[in-house]
Amino acid sequence: MIQTCRYHCRTCGQHFTSLAAFDSHRSGPWAERICLRGFEILKRDGEQLLEPVAGECRISIARADGPGMEHVPTDEIWRIPHPAELEEEA
Ligand SMILES: [Zn+2]
Ligand SMILES: [Zn+2]
Repeated sequence: MIQTCRYHCRTCGQHFTSLAAFDSHRSGPWAERICLRGFEILKRDGEQLLEPVAGECRISIARADGPGMEHVPTDEIWRIPHPAELEEEA
């Protein structure tokens, strides 16, 4: 099954598979939120939180030839590898 981008950041253009992954890349207070790159997001133990997977973004670019969205291949959709472990930590 192909991975697809479910949460697309319009600010930085990165792709995420889940809301938790998306949320983790937004940093700072509301008024001055910034986007971190996927590989910059670290867990408390210093390991990278997100891992990139190859797939398609189907929500970022409107088709030029009609309704719907382009299917854009990408090798960088960010996801949290083990969401269950993360919940146990919290
Ligand atoms: Zn962003
Ligand atoms: Zn996307």
